[in-house]
Amino acid sequence: MSDCLFCKIIAGQIPGAIVYQDDRVVAFKDINAQAPTHVLVVPRRHIATLNDLTPEDDGLVGEMTRRAAAIAKEHGHADRGYRTVFNCNADAGQTVFHIHMHVLGGRRLAWPPG
Ligand code: 5GP
Ligand code: ZN
Repeated sequence: MSDCLFCKIIAGQIPGAIVYQDDRVVAFKDINAQAPTHVLVVPRRHIATLNDLTPEDDGLVGEMTRRAAAIAKEHGHADRGYRTVFNCNADAGQTVFHIHMHVLGGRRLAWPPG
């Protein structure tokens, strides 16, 4: 989608600190990190919100989830722990409408979230 920020990062039109990419999934550092590790895992294909997922996307979401776990492990967070989050729409504070899994680690994370 031409006016989507994350599509532009995926396409290399806007710089992004990319930590992983393959033909379906891209991961890059969040520009406003909320923890020592804060990476966003996104599908290359534009999907606006979790509400837009279909059963055909189940494999893609599985890949995103396993990639998030791999990135957390690479950053040394597997044993102590980390958090993955999808925000969906206004009440959750979604600001970029291209689905992204936040991977947060490296500090104690409070629960419940704010
Ligand atoms: P949301 O609030 O939609 O769940 O998360 C969007 C995330 O994208 C935020 O954590 C925000 O810091 C991040 N973000 C916004 N603009 C940019 C950008 O230009 N580059 C990168 N790498 N992250 C961004
Ligand atoms: Zn997009």
